[in-house]
Amino acid sequence: MNNPTRVKVAMFDVDGTLAKSKQPMDASGLGLLADLTRKMPVVIVGGGKKELFWRQVVRPIAKFRPDLENLRVMPTNGASLYIWNKHWSRKYELRLTKAEGRRIREAIKIALKRIGFESPGRRYGNLIEDRGAQITFSALGQSAPLPVKETWNRQSDIRPRLLKELRRLLPDLDSHIAGLTSIDITRRGIDKGYAVRRAQEHFHVKKSDMLFVGDAIFPGGNDYPAKKAGIPCLRVNGPEETKRIIRGLIGR
Ligand SMILES: [Mg+2]
Repeated sequence: MNNPTRVKVAMFDVDGTLAKSKQPMDASGLGLLADLTRKMPVVIVGGGKKELFWRQVVRPIAKFRPDLENLRVMPTNGASLYIWNKHWSRKYELRLTKAEGRRIREAIKIALKRIGFESPGRRYGNLIEDRGAQITFSALGQSAPLPVKETWNRQSDIRPRLLKELRRLLPDLDSHIAGLTSIDITRRGIDKGYAVRRAQEHFHVKKSDMLFVGDAIFPGGNDYPAKKAGIPCLRVNGPEETKRIIRGLIGR
């Protein structure tokens, strides 16, 4: 890895890197990450919404270190940034405008009609959720249980067709398949590369002084845009390898 003494800001992807998919980080990982924040600013970034970050990292790490001044949280790929100063606050949020939101909802309805989507017999919450910077369509509703989603994903996944229609209807926005039943729609170019640029701005550091750690740093992977943004990157195969990197950064 690049010289650990040079790293001034460490950025970590969450799912598959700090934690297993949607699971909270384990205790040894939390302890190491808390120790790293004593040494340098740490940014955690991922595609999920804020609540997920709080469940996976922010709430559990507070048991290891209540003073989290050096931790920054970037949900929805840096479309928002949360900082801690005695309490958590939002530094910015790049929200879709009301008009954009309306247009996206309308496009989803048209696209669903075009592909002949049949509303599920049982819905688990709303099918369309406004996450501020992102609108998410979930075919079974936002809170469908995992086994139900898995079955749907195997037997009824219409998202490739839906995605095609959505991209036709919203050519100026980004639409991506996410999770087992969802499609996320955001403004163009909100990805880990965007998060890297916002973090660099926030800390006023050189790209070469930053480090990004992720499990999907390969063409097509959702961490690849960070590499394309030009900061040193390390690819890991999971949380255990990430712990080794953190130990290296702490110097033990
Ligand atoms: Mg990942």
